[in-house]
Amino acid sequence: MPPIPTLKSLKSGLENRDFSSAEITRAYLDSIAESSLNAFITVDEEGALVAARMADERYRNGTAGSLTGVPIAHKDIFCTQGVNTTCGSKMLASFTAPYDATVVTRLKDAGAVCIGKTNMDEFAMGSSNETSFFGPVKNPWNPEAVPGGSSGGSAAAVAARLVPAATGTDTGGSIRQPASFTGITGLKPTYGRVSRYGMIAFASSLDQGGPMTGDAEDAALLLAHMAGFDHRDSTSANRNDEWLSRLQTENLPVLDSRLRVGLPTQYFQAVDNPVLQTALEQVRVWLEAEGHECVEVSLPHTEVAVAAYYVIAGAEASTNLSRYDGVRFGHRCENPESLEDLYERSRSEGFGDEVKRRILTGTYALSVGYFDAYYIKAQKIRRLIARDFIDAFSEVDLLLTPTATGPAFNAGALTHDPVAMYNQDKFTVPVSLAGLPALSMPCGFDDGLPLGAQLIGPHFAEERILKLAASFQRATDWHARTAPCACIPEVLQ
Ligand code: GLN
Repeated sequence: MPPIPTLKSLKSGLENRDFSSAEITRAYLDSIAESSLNAFITVDEEGALVAARMADERYRNGTAGSLTGVPIAHKDIFCTQGVNTTCGSKMLASFTAPYDATVVTRLKDAGAVCIGKTNMDEFAMGSSNETSFFGPVKNPWNPEAVPGGSSGGSAAAVAARLVPAATGTDTGGSIRQPASFTGITGLKPTYGRVSRYGMIAFASSLDQGGPMTGDAEDAALLLAHMAGFDHRDSTSANRNDEWLSRLQTENLPVLDSRLRVGLPTQYFQAVDNPVLQTALEQVRVWLEAEGHECVEVSLPHTEVAVAAYYVIAGAEASTNLSRYDGVRFGHRCENPESLEDLYERSRSEGFGDEVKRRILTGTYALSVGYFDAYYIKAQKIRRLIARDFIDAFSEVDLLLTPTATGPAFNAGALTHDPVAMYNQDKFTVPVSLAGLPALSMPCGFDDGLPLGAQLIGPHFAEERILKLAASFQRATDWHARTAPCACIPEVLQ
């Protein structure tokens, strides 16, 4: 098994002149062109090659920075100046943003070469990538299976080695669940850690961008460049975490303390897949063998998290998406007869079924007469869930849970049952409601499909999570296994 190309290995290959950025960018572009996963909505061949040649120039003149010349991809929810940003929707199918998202600017400034924009569920609403206007994405481990969602394009691209790393966003699990389904590492940072400026809004109190990579070391490196205070995002956390800035140029330090890891009873009881149970048990055995202590903890309000999440996320989506009115952004219907007709038809034609479902339920939850019964109640539940975690973290350093209820399900299996689809998110949405950081890392396989374990930490404890994940990955090779259709460019082998 050739080692997987990582951001770090590509960077050192570029520094040693083993290959040029133009060469590897070309190789990745060729693999993407041959791939039938539908992981990309837009491939920016010309822009990527220009950026790669400029990167090579910087190596020649000694001004290369920490990610110079390394190809990455952005989820198509991040605005990119001059390159289409569709958010997986017909509504924005021909939208080009006039500016870059802060995440895009930061990674560009670090020298990364953006190779294209990855496929996703429409407006990030979904758990399987089947709501994308641009068609579903296939799971590289099995083309019948979904890659998860909503960042399914980024996950499939990284898993198939079409790009070493990609950005994703997570509102209720959209980085972690696709990472779990495709056997990669995905980190949802603490809410406020990564700027939301230029990241198309779904549910603003939950949305958070983060890295999707081959391993935890790369997640740390990408996070170090994505994160940081941004005055353009009013919920951006103004913190000066030195450990994080250091990761831009230094390796993630090795974990040198023994941790108390909590295993939430409610999560483990809800797992009925025996292979996943065994895989998680193996993680626990490894933790204890490393000298960490594992204890059971209780998160009593877990069961109501999905209901609360879908009320709050829908409510926020219904207001955020009111801007798509056929006037200012996106799709406009032909020959409107009146202003109302313009709004009605532009929105009916531009949005897909799942987005309409969210707008309708969200508007309902916010309407006079139902506001207290749904929205306010959901907010109260959100508070209780956040408190469950605070209580748990008064006793333990991190939590270990499954990321998803099992391996990737088959395409079409849940599309006719929205509630069953929503219930897929039961292990990821509580973390989102509490604004906590959490990472999914590969921990086994079920019938050839990857399984993921989730590490959850207190607010801003990404370092602890990343260090533990990296130490797990030094001891195991789940993350290094390569999907059947993956294709490591020859120049990197
Ligand atoms: N699957 C969840 C939803 O559909 C989460 C999506 C996300 O995190 N963007 O809302």
